[in-house]
Amino acid sequence: MLLSRKIAIVGSGTAGLQLAYALRNDFEVTVIHAYSSEKIKNGRVMSTQVHFGSTVKREEKFQMPFWKEADPLQSVHISIRDQKLFVGNLKEPAYSINQRLYFSRGMEELEMDNVKFKQVRVQEEHLDQLIEEFNIVIDCSGKAGPLFSFPIIEELSPFKLPQRKCIVGYFNGIKSNDPLGVGVTILPGLGEMFEIPALTNKGPITILFIMAIPEKELDCFKGVKTSEQFTDRMKDTAHSYFPSIYERIDKNQFTLADSLSFLQLAISPVIRRPYTHYTNKIVLGCGDSVFLNDPITGQGCNLSSYCAEKLYETLLQYKHSEWDLKLGEDYWDAVRPMVEKVTKWTNAMTQEMPPHIIQLLLSGKSSQKTADKIAEWFAEPEKAYNDFFQQSIQI
Ligand SMILES: Cc1cc2nc3c(=O)[nH]c(=O)nc-3n(C[C@H](O)[C@H](O)[C@H](O)COP(=O)(O)OP(=O)(O)OC[C@H]3O[C@@H](n4cnc5c(N)ncnc54)[C@H](O)[C@@H]3O)c2cc1C
Repeated sequence: MLLSRKIAIVGSGTAGLQLAYALRNDFEVTVIHAYSSEKIKNGRVMSTQVHFGSTVKREEKFQMPFWKEADPLQSVHISIRDQKLFVGNLKEPAYSINQRLYFSRGMEELEMDNVKFKQVRVQEEHLDQLIEEFNIVIDCSGKAGPLFSFPIIEELSPFKLPQRKCIVGYFNGIKSNDPLGVGVTILPGLGEMFEIPALTNKGPITILFIMAIPEKELDCFKGVKTSEQFTDRMKDTAHSYFPSIYERIDKNQFTLADSLSFLQLAISPVIRRPYTHYTNKIVLGCGDSVFLNDPITGQGCNLSSYCAEKLYETLLQYKHSEWDLKLGEDYWDAVRPMVEKVTKWTNAMTQEMPPHIIQLLLSGKSSQKTADKIAEWFAEPEKAYNDFFQQSIQI
Protein backbone atom coordinates (compact mmCIF):
# COMPACT_ATOMS: atom_id res chain seq x y z
CA MET A 1 0.00 0.00 0.00
CA LEU A 2 1.24 3.50 -0.87
CA LEU A 3 1.94 5.33 2.37
CA SER A 4 0.36 8.76 2.68
CA ARG A 5 2.82 11.58 2.08
CA LYS A 6 3.81 13.71 5.05
CA ILE A 7 3.28 17.46 4.90
CA ALA A 8 4.52 19.97 7.48
CA ILE A 9 2.68 23.29 7.65
CA VAL A 10 4.60 25.87 9.68
CA GLY A 11 2.13 28.37 11.20
CA SER A 12 -1.42 28.07 12.49
CA GLY A 13 -2.87 31.28 11.06
CA THR A 14 -5.19 31.97 8.14
CA ALA A 15 -3.18 30.17 5.45
CA GLY A 16 -1.84 27.31 7.60
CA LEU A 17 -5.21 26.38 9.06
CA GLN A 18 -7.10 26.51 5.77
CA LEU A 19 -4.41 24.31 4.20
CA ALA A 20 -4.63 21.85 7.10
CA TYR A 21 -8.42 21.62 6.71
CA ALA A 22 -8.09 21.17 2.94
CA LEU A 23 -5.25 18.62 2.96
CA ARG A 24 -6.15 16.52 6.01
CA ASN A 25 -8.08 13.83 4.07
CA ASP A 26 -5.43 13.19 1.43
CA PHE A 27 -2.13 13.53 3.28
CA GLU A 28 -0.59 13.11 6.71
CA VAL A 29 -0.59 16.71 7.96
CA THR A 30 1.42 18.16 10.85
CA VAL A 31 0.94 21.80 11.85
CA ILE A 32 3.98 23.29 13.56
CA HIS A 33 3.01 26.33 15.57
CA ALA A 34 4.67 28.85 17.84
CA TYR A 35 1.77 29.24 20.34
CA SER A 36 -0.81 26.93 21.92
CA SER A 37 -4.49 27.45 21.08
CA GLU A 38 -5.02 28.60 24.69
CA LYS A 39 -2.31 31.22 24.40
CA ILE A 40 -3.71 32.47 21.08
CA LYS A 41 -7.24 32.67 22.55
CA ASN A 42 -6.05 34.75 25.50
CA GLY A 43 -3.26 36.65 23.79
CA ARG A 44 -3.07 39.99 22.00
CA VAL A 45 -5.19 40.65 18.91
CA MET A 46 -3.12 40.07 15.79
CA SER A 47 -5.03 41.76 13.04
CA THR A 48 -8.43 42.79 11.78
CA GLN A 49 -10.25 40.51 9.36
CA VAL A 50 -13.15 40.60 6.96
CA HIS A 51 -13.80 37.39 5.07
CA PHE A 52 -15.66 38.22 1.87
CA GLY A 53 -18.03 35.92 -0.08
CA SER A 54 -15.51 33.82 -2.00
CA THR A 55 -13.44 33.20 1.16
CA VAL A 56 -16.53 32.20 3.12
CA LYS A 57 -17.43 29.74 0.33
CA ARG A 58 -13.98 28.15 0.57
CA GLU A 59 -14.31 27.92 4.34
CA GLU A 60 -17.62 26.13 3.91
CA LYS A 61 -16.12 23.82 1.30
CA PHE A 62 -13.33 22.80 3.68
CA GLN A 63 -15.70 22.66 6.69
CA MET A 64 -13.87 25.35 8.60
CA PRO A 65 -15.35 26.79 11.78
CA PHE A 66 -18.21 29.13 12.29
CA TRP A 67 -17.89 32.27 10.22
CA LYS A 68 -21.63 32.49 10.04
CA GLU A 69 -22.02 32.87 13.80
CA ALA A 70 -21.07 36.52 13.33
CA ASP A 71 -23.50 39.15 12.08
CA PRO A 72 -23.37 39.39 8.27
CA LEU A 73 -21.76 42.53 6.90
CA GLN A 74 -23.83 43.53 3.89
CA SER A 75 -22.33 46.85 2.84
CA VAL A 76 -19.36 49.20 2.58
CA HIS A 77 -19.81 52.81 3.75
CA ILE A 78 -17.46 55.27 2.05
CA SER A 79 -16.72 58.79 3.34
CA ILE A 80 -14.13 61.38 2.41
CA ARG A 81 -13.25 63.57 5.39
CA ASP A 82 -16.58 64.24 7.13
CA GLN A 83 -18.64 63.84 3.97
CA LYS A 84 -20.51 60.54 3.61
CA LEU A 85 -20.41 59.60 -0.07
CA PHE A 86 -22.43 56.39 -0.24
CA VAL A 87 -23.28 52.96 1.10
CA GLY A 88 -22.45 50.26 -1.47
CA ASN A 89 -24.11 46.86 -1.14
CA LEU A 90 -22.10 43.65 -1.22
CA LYS A 91 -23.50 40.87 -3.42
CA GLU A 92 -22.73 38.32 -0.72
CA PRO A 93 -22.37 38.99 2.99
CA ALA A 94 -18.92 39.17 4.58
CA TYR A 95 -18.06 38.06 8.14
CA SER A 96 -15.53 39.23 10.70
CA ILE A 97 -14.48 36.99 13.61
CA ASN A 98 -11.55 37.84 15.83
CA GLN A 99 -8.59 35.67 14.82
CA ARG A 100 -7.91 34.77 18.45
CA LEU A 101 -11.24 32.95 18.50
CA TYR A 102 -11.10 31.62 14.95
CA PHE A 103 -7.53 30.27 15.06
CA SER A 104 -7.88 28.65 18.48
CA ARG A 105 -11.18 26.98 17.51
CA GLY A 106 -9.63 25.74 14.23
CA MET A 107 -6.61 24.28 16.02
CA GLU A 108 -8.79 22.48 18.56
CA GLU A 109 -11.09 21.05 15.88
CA LEU A 110 -8.24 19.86 13.66
CA GLU A 111 -6.44 18.20 16.55
CA MET A 112 -9.55 16.06 17.12
CA ASP A 113 -9.59 15.24 13.41
CA ASN A 114 -6.27 13.45 12.93
CA VAL A 115 -4.13 16.49 12.21
CA LYS A 116 -0.96 16.45 14.31
CA PHE A 117 0.14 19.58 16.13
CA LYS A 118 3.66 20.27 17.31
CA GLN A 119 4.45 23.39 19.31
CA VAL A 120 7.86 24.75 18.27
CA ARG A 121 8.95 28.23 17.19
CA VAL A 122 10.80 27.07 14.09
CA GLN A 123 14.26 28.55 13.73
CA GLU A 124 17.09 28.08 11.29
CA GLU A 125 18.60 25.21 13.27
CA HIS A 126 15.32 23.21 12.90
CA LEU A 127 15.11 23.41 9.12
CA ASP A 128 17.36 20.47 8.19
CA GLN A 129 15.42 18.13 10.43
CA LEU A 130 12.07 19.37 9.11
CA ILE A 131 13.15 18.83 5.53
CA GLU A 132 14.41 15.36 6.42
CA GLU A 133 11.26 14.31 8.27
CA PHE A 134 8.58 15.51 5.82
CA ASN A 135 7.97 15.04 2.10
CA ILE A 136 7.26 18.74 1.83
CA VAL A 137 7.33 21.79 4.13
CA ILE A 138 4.91 24.66 3.56
CA ASP A 139 5.97 27.94 5.15
CA CYS A 140 2.85 29.72 6.48
CA SER A 141 4.73 31.73 9.11
CA GLY A 142 3.00 34.97 8.12
CA LYS A 143 4.59 38.39 8.42
CA ALA A 144 7.15 37.02 10.93
CA GLY A 145 8.52 34.88 8.07
CA PRO A 146 9.63 33.66 5.73
CA LEU A 147 11.77 30.86 7.15
CA PHE A 148 13.24 30.00 3.72
CA SER A 149 14.82 32.30 1.17
CA PHE A 150 12.00 32.68 -1.35
CA PRO A 151 13.28 35.18 -3.95
CA ILE A 152 11.74 38.66 -3.91
CA ILE A 153 9.77 39.70 -7.00
CA GLU A 154 11.16 43.22 -7.37
CA GLU A 155 8.50 44.49 -9.80
CA LEU A 156 5.79 43.74 -7.21
CA SER A 157 7.79 45.05 -4.24
CA PRO A 158 8.35 48.76 -4.95
CA PHE A 159 8.45 50.00 -1.33
CA LYS A 160 11.37 49.70 1.04
CA LEU A 161 9.45 51.23 3.97
CA PRO A 162 5.92 50.87 5.41
CA GLN A 163 3.37 53.14 3.70
CA ARG A 164 1.03 53.18 6.72
CA LYS A 165 1.14 52.81 10.51
CA CYS A 166 -1.57 50.34 11.55
CA ILE A 167 -3.40 51.32 14.75
CA VAL A 168 -6.10 48.82 15.78
CA GLY A 169 -8.47 48.63 18.75
CA TYR A 170 -11.45 46.33 19.42
CA PHE A 171 -14.00 48.51 21.26
CA ASN A 172 -17.26 48.33 23.15
CA GLY A 173 -19.54 51.36 23.26
CA ILE A 174 -19.88 52.30 19.57
CA LYS A 175 -23.31 52.29 17.96
CA SER A 176 -22.92 50.30 14.73
CA ASN A 177 -23.27 51.92 11.36
CA ASP A 178 -26.56 51.16 9.60
CA PRO A 179 -26.91 49.02 7.51
CA LEU A 180 -24.26 46.92 9.25
CA GLY A 181 -21.11 47.04 7.17
CA VAL A 182 -17.49 48.10 6.90
CA GLY A 183 -16.90 51.85 7.17
CA VAL A 184 -14.05 53.43 5.22
CA THR A 185 -13.20 57.09 5.83
CA ILE A 186 -10.48 58.59 3.66
CA LEU A 187 -8.53 61.62 4.87
CA PRO A 188 -6.49 62.62 1.80
CA GLY A 189 -2.83 63.12 2.69
CA LEU A 190 -3.28 61.76 6.23
CA GLY A 191 -4.59 58.19 5.98
CA GLU A 192 -7.77 56.22 6.54
CA MET A 193 -10.07 54.86 9.24
CA PHE A 194 -11.74 51.46 8.86
CA GLU A 195 -14.67 50.65 11.12
CA ILE A 196 -15.36 46.92 11.25
CA PRO A 197 -18.08 45.21 13.30
CA ALA A 198 -16.68 41.89 14.53
CA LEU A 199 -17.42 38.94 16.79
CA THR A 200 -15.12 38.16 19.72
CA ASN A 201 -15.40 35.61 22.55
CA LYS A 202 -17.13 38.36 24.55
CA GLY A 203 -19.74 39.03 21.85
CA PRO A 204 -20.01 41.66 19.10
CA ILE A 205 -17.70 44.68 19.20
CA THR A 206 -16.50 47.36 16.77
CA ILE A 207 -12.95 47.54 15.47
CA LEU A 208 -11.52 51.00 14.87
CA PHE A 209 -8.55 50.64 12.56
CA ILE A 210 -6.54 53.74 11.71
CA MET A 211 -4.07 53.57 8.84
CA ALA A 212 -1.88 56.61 9.30
CA ILE A 213 0.59 57.94 6.74
CA PRO A 214 3.86 57.95 8.69
CA GLU A 215 4.82 61.31 10.24
CA LYS A 216 1.54 63.03 9.20
CA GLU A 217 -0.99 64.33 11.76
CA LEU A 218 -2.94 61.06 12.00
CA ASP A 219 0.24 59.27 13.06
CA CYS A 220 -0.54 60.37 16.60
CA PHE A 221 -0.27 57.20 18.73
CA LYS A 222 3.49 57.33 19.28
CA GLY A 223 4.40 56.65 22.89
CA VAL A 224 0.95 55.16 23.64
CA LYS A 225 1.59 52.04 25.73
CA THR A 226 -1.33 51.14 28.00
CA SER A 227 -4.91 50.21 27.12
CA GLU A 228 -6.15 53.33 28.97
CA GLN A 229 -3.83 55.61 27.00
CA PHE A 230 -4.88 53.88 23.79
CA THR A 231 -8.60 54.31 24.51
CA ASP A 232 -8.17 57.99 25.38
CA ARG A 233 -6.08 58.66 22.28
CA MET A 234 -8.62 56.89 20.06
CA LYS A 235 -11.46 58.96 21.54
CA ASP A 236 -9.53 62.21 20.96
CA THR A 237 -8.58 61.15 17.43
CA ALA A 238 -12.19 60.27 16.57
CA HIS A 239 -13.26 63.66 17.95
CA SER A 240 -10.69 65.54 15.86
CA TYR A 241 -10.80 63.59 12.59
CA PHE A 242 -13.81 61.25 12.45
CA PRO A 243 -16.85 63.16 13.76
CA SER A 244 -19.45 60.72 12.40
CA ILE A 245 -17.82 57.91 14.41
CA TYR A 246 -17.35 60.15 17.45
CA GLU A 247 -21.10 60.93 17.44
CA ARG A 248 -21.86 57.20 17.77
CA ILE A 249 -19.46 56.67 20.70
CA ASP A 250 -21.15 56.27 24.09
CA LYS A 251 -18.58 58.11 26.24
CA ASN A 252 -19.41 56.05 29.35
CA GLN A 253 -19.27 52.65 27.64
CA PHE A 254 -16.28 53.27 25.33
CA THR A 255 -13.64 50.73 26.41
CA LEU A 256 -11.37 48.20 24.78
CA ALA A 257 -12.90 44.71 24.69
CA ASP A 258 -10.01 43.61 26.92
CA SER A 259 -6.56 44.84 27.87
CA LEU A 260 -4.91 42.99 24.94
CA SER A 261 -7.33 44.03 22.22
CA PHE A 262 -5.20 46.77 20.75
CA LEU A 263 -2.22 46.76 18.44
CA GLN A 264 0.21 49.05 16.67
CA LEU A 265 2.50 47.95 13.86
CA ALA A 266 3.70 48.83 10.38
CA ILE A 267 4.24 46.52 7.44
CA SER A 268 6.82 46.76 4.67
CA PRO A 269 5.05 45.05 1.78
CA VAL A 270 7.06 42.43 -0.11
CA ILE A 271 6.09 39.77 -2.64
CA ARG A 272 8.17 36.63 -3.12
CA ARG A 273 8.12 33.67 -5.49
CA PRO A 274 6.40 31.02 -3.36
CA TYR A 275 8.74 28.12 -4.00
CA THR A 276 12.42 27.43 -3.62
CA HIS A 277 14.82 24.62 -2.86
CA TYR A 278 16.22 23.81 0.54
CA THR A 279 18.95 21.16 0.44
CA ASN A 280 17.50 18.45 -1.85
CA LYS A 281 13.78 19.29 -1.63
CA ILE A 282 11.34 21.90 -2.82
CA VAL A 283 9.70 24.07 -0.13
CA LEU A 284 6.57 26.16 -0.64
CA GLY A 285 5.19 29.34 0.90
CA CYS A 286 1.58 30.42 1.34
CA GLY A 287 0.01 33.55 2.88
CA ASP A 288 1.88 36.57 4.23
CA SER A 289 5.23 34.73 4.43
CA VAL A 290 5.45 35.14 0.65
CA PHE A 291 2.64 37.57 -0.32
CA LEU A 292 2.83 40.38 2.24
CA ASN A 293 0.72 43.41 1.33
CA ASP A 294 -0.28 46.49 3.27
CA PRO A 295 -3.64 45.82 5.03
CA ILE A 296 -5.25 48.91 3.44
CA THR A 297 -7.46 46.91 1.06
CA GLY A 298 -8.30 44.21 3.63
CA GLN A 299 -7.17 41.44 1.27
CA GLY A 300 -4.60 39.55 3.36
CA CYS A 301 -6.95 36.84 4.67
CA ASN A 302 -8.80 36.62 1.38
CA LEU A 303 -5.62 36.27 -0.68
CA SER A 304 -4.19 33.75 1.81
CA SER A 305 -7.38 31.70 1.51
CA TYR A 306 -7.36 31.94 -2.29
CA CYS A 307 -3.73 30.81 -2.49
CA ALA A 308 -4.28 28.03 0.05
CA GLU A 309 -7.05 26.61 -2.15
CA LYS A 310 -4.86 26.80 -5.27
CA LEU A 311 -2.00 25.12 -3.42
CA TYR A 312 -4.36 22.38 -2.23
CA GLU A 313 -5.52 21.82 -5.83
CA THR A 314 -1.92 21.71 -7.08
CA LEU A 315 -0.86 19.21 -4.41
CA LEU A 316 -3.84 17.00 -5.28
CA GLN A 317 -2.85 17.07 -8.95
CA TYR A 318 0.61 15.90 -7.87
CA LYS A 319 -0.68 13.37 -5.36
CA HIS A 320 0.93 10.46 -7.19
CA SER A 321 3.78 12.28 -8.96
CA GLU A 322 7.13 13.59 -7.86
CA TRP A 323 7.15 16.77 -5.77
CA ASP A 324 9.72 18.74 -7.71
CA LEU A 325 10.31 22.20 -9.12
CA LYS A 326 7.44 21.75 -11.60
CA LEU A 327 4.96 21.57 -8.71
CA GLY A 328 6.22 24.92 -7.43
CA GLU A 329 6.00 26.45 -10.89
CA ASP A 330 2.44 25.19 -11.38
CA TYR A 331 1.36 26.58 -8.00
CA TRP A 332 2.95 29.96 -8.78
CA ASP A 333 1.32 30.02 -12.24
CA ALA A 334 -2.06 29.33 -10.62
CA VAL A 335 -1.88 32.15 -8.07
CA ARG A 336 0.29 34.74 -9.82
CA PRO A 337 -2.48 36.60 -11.73
CA MET A 338 -4.47 37.16 -8.52
CA VAL A 339 -1.37 38.00 -6.44
CA GLU A 340 -0.35 40.60 -9.04
CA LYS A 341 -3.79 42.22 -9.21
CA VAL A 342 -4.27 42.38 -5.44
CA THR A 343 -0.75 43.71 -4.94
CA LYS A 344 -0.93 46.40 -7.63
CA TRP A 345 -4.34 47.58 -6.42
CA THR A 346 -3.20 47.57 -2.79
CA ASN A 347 0.01 49.47 -3.57
CA ALA A 348 -2.01 52.03 -5.56
CA MET A 349 -4.38 52.52 -2.61
CA THR A 350 -1.46 53.56 -0.39
CA GLN A 351 -0.58 56.38 -2.79
CA GLU A 352 -2.45 59.50 -3.90
CA MET A 353 -5.72 58.45 -5.60
CA PRO A 354 -5.66 58.82 -9.40
CA PRO A 355 -8.15 61.48 -10.66
CA HIS A 356 -10.38 58.92 -12.44
CA ILE A 357 -10.80 56.99 -9.17
CA ILE A 358 -11.69 60.16 -7.23
CA GLN A 359 -14.25 60.89 -9.93
CA LEU A 360 -15.63 57.35 -9.67
CA LEU A 361 -15.90 57.62 -5.87
CA LEU A 362 -17.71 60.93 -6.14
CA SER A 363 -20.11 59.53 -8.75
CA GLY A 364 -21.04 56.78 -6.26
CA LYS A 365 -22.94 59.50 -4.41
CA SER A 366 -25.55 59.80 -7.13
CA SER A 367 -25.47 56.29 -8.57
CA GLN A 368 -26.29 53.25 -6.45
CA LYS A 369 -24.96 51.05 -9.25
CA THR A 370 -21.55 52.72 -8.95
CA ALA A 371 -21.69 52.55 -5.15
CA ASP A 372 -22.37 48.79 -5.33
CA LYS A 373 -19.59 48.34 -7.89
CA ILE A 374 -17.09 50.05 -5.54
CA ALA A 375 -18.21 47.92 -2.57
CA GLU A 376 -17.46 44.85 -4.70
CA TRP A 377 -13.81 45.96 -5.08
CA PHE A 378 -13.16 44.45 -1.67
CA ALA A 379 -14.96 41.17 -2.46
CA GLU A 380 -13.57 40.82 -5.98
CA PRO A 381 -10.23 42.64 -6.14
CA GLU A 382 -9.84 41.87 -9.87
CA LYS A 383 -12.62 44.43 -10.42
CA ALA A 384 -10.75 47.03 -8.40
CA TYR A 385 -7.63 46.30 -10.42
CA ASN A 386 -9.54 46.81 -13.67
CA ASP A 387 -11.01 50.10 -12.48
CA PHE A 388 -7.66 51.41 -11.27
CA PHE A 389 -5.58 50.37 -14.24
CA GLN A 390 -7.98 50.42 -17.20
CA GLN A 391 -8.91 54.00 -17.89
CA SER A 392 -12.26 53.42 -19.68
CA ILE A 393 -14.47 52.51 -16.74
CA GLN A 394 -17.82 50.85 -17.34
CA ILE A 395 -20.37 52.15 -14.86
C1 LIG B 1 -3.27 45.46 11.44
C2 LIG B 1 -3.68 44.47 10.42
C3 LIG B 1 -4.96 44.48 9.92
C4 LIG B 1 -5.36 43.58 8.95
N1 LIG B 1 -6.64 43.62 8.48
C5 LIG B 1 -7.05 42.72 7.57
C6 LIG B 1 -8.39 42.72 7.09
O1 LIG B 1 -9.21 43.53 7.51
N2 LIG B 1 -8.74 41.80 6.17
C7 LIG B 1 -7.86 40.87 5.69
O2 LIG B 1 -8.24 40.04 4.85
N3 LIG B 1 -6.58 40.84 6.13
C8 LIG B 1 -6.17 41.74 7.05
N4 LIG B 1 -4.88 41.71 7.51
C9 LIG B 1 -3.95 40.71 6.97
C10 LIG B 1 -4.22 39.32 7.52
O3 LIG B 1 -4.28 39.31 8.93
C11 LIG B 1 -3.11 38.42 7.05
O4 LIG B 1 -2.90 38.61 5.67
C12 LIG B 1 -3.42 36.95 7.27
O5 LIG B 1 -3.67 36.65 8.61
C13 LIG B 1 -2.24 36.15 6.75
O6 LIG B 1 -2.36 34.80 7.08
P1 LIG B 1 -1.06 33.94 7.32
O7 LIG B 1 -1.53 32.58 7.64
O8 LIG B 1 -0.11 34.13 6.22
O9 LIG B 1 -0.36 34.60 8.58
P2 LIG B 1 -0.91 34.67 10.07
O10 LIG B 1 -2.38 34.57 10.09
O11 LIG B 1 -0.24 35.85 10.66
O12 LIG B 1 -0.35 33.34 10.74
C14 LIG B 1 1.04 33.11 10.86
C15 LIG B 1 1.22 31.99 11.87
O13 LIG B 1 2.57 31.54 11.87
C16 LIG B 1 3.01 31.42 13.21
N5 LIG B 1 4.47 31.53 13.18
C17 LIG B 1 5.21 32.60 12.81
N6 LIG B 1 6.51 32.31 12.87
C18 LIG B 1 6.60 31.01 13.28
C19 LIG B 1 7.68 30.15 13.53
N7 LIG B 1 8.95 30.54 13.36
N8 LIG B 1 7.42 28.89 13.95
C20 LIG B 1 6.14 28.46 14.11
N9 LIG B 1 5.06 29.24 13.87
C21 LIG B 1 5.29 30.51 13.47
C22 LIG B 1 2.31 32.53 13.94
O14 LIG B 1 2.31 32.32 15.33
C23 LIG B 1 0.92 32.41 13.29
O15 LIG B 1 0.18 31.40 13.90
C24 LIG B 1 -4.44 42.62 8.47
C25 LIG B 1 -3.16 42.59 8.97
C26 LIG B 1 -2.77 43.50 9.95
C27 LIG B 1 -1.37 43.43 10.48
